[in-house]
Parts: sequence; C-alpha cells; structure tokens
Amino acid sequence: MENDLRVDCTKLQDGKVRRIDLDRQGTLSEPELRAASVVDGVVVVKGAVTAAGPALVLNGVLEGRWSAECRRCLQEVRGDFEIELSEVFQEESSQEESSNVGSDGEFWPIVESWIDLEPLAREAALVNLPMAALCSEDCAGPDPDRFPTRSEESATETSAPIDPRWAALSELRFDD
Ligand SMILES: [Zn+2]
Repeated sequence: MENDLRVDCTKLQDGKVRRIDLDRQGTLSEPELRAASVVDGVVVVKGAVTAAGPALVLNGVLEGRWSAECRRCLQEVRGDFEIELSEVFQEESSQEESSNVGSDGEFWPIVESWIDLEPLAREAALVNLPMAALCSEDCAGPDPDRFPTRSEESATETSAPIDPRWAALSELRFDD
C-alpha cells in the first residue's frame, strides 16, 4: 500500500494504461467535526481511476476508523467506516467549457495530470461521521440517578395525549 493520496495520472491521460488501481493510505488534515473525528486522520482509498473523455473517474471505497463522544455519557465510542466513492476529476479549463452541460456532479481538479484524493476523502469522511453517537442503545448517561435519560417515546407518553393543533390538522384532512 502506498502512503500517498496524490496520484499521477499521466499514463492514463496519455492512453498508455486503461486504469490505475489504487490502494493508498493517507492522513487527512483537520479530520474532526465537532465531537467526532477520523482516528489519527488515517484513511485508505481502494479502487481504480479510469479515463472518461477528458475527465478522470474514481470508483472505490474509503476506509477508516471513527471516534466520537457518546451523546449521553461523553465516553469515547469507536467504529469502522467504509464509504463508497464515485468521483469525477476535470482539468480546470474543461470544467469551464462543460459548466453549462447540466451535470449536477461536483468536479475535483486535475492539476498537471495529478489528482489529490485528500480533499474528497476528507469531505466524504466528515459527512459520514456520527453526530449523535451512543456507546450503547441503553446508555444511562454519566449519573443516571440524578439525570435519568428519557427516550423520545417516554417523553411523548408523559405529554398531553391530544394536542389541539393536531386535532385542527385532522379536520383539515377531512375537509379535503
Ligand atoms: Zn454512553
């Protein structure tokens, strides 16, 4: 496994190879978002880069470990992630030419035949970090006697059984 997230795609662009297989490890800069992070920032990209006209396409997976705080007891929780990657790279100039093609996709830059997997790996990893992790479904929190946790179901049970606004909504449905 190569320890570099930058890939030289010269041979692919010159037509000398049909694909570049990837098995790369790298470290993300700023691999954390609020209370969650990619463990040590380390990710692995596996897959292949192929040419599609002037564009380059990466299909593969992003693997790593995440770490987050349990939202109730604040203990560290860890897990593995494996995220599908399907990314398109274009030269800056051809990006401008094709900007009115109507693609809803996002392009990553090709800079002098090199692509950098770090920004897309970072983006994919961060959006997939758990934002409300639990160490276990029945985590009781740091001090259950003083601060008992209440699930959403039990909170609903203790509130008024009929909300007048809901009654108004059901009347509207019948009028329709
Ligand atoms: Zn917990």
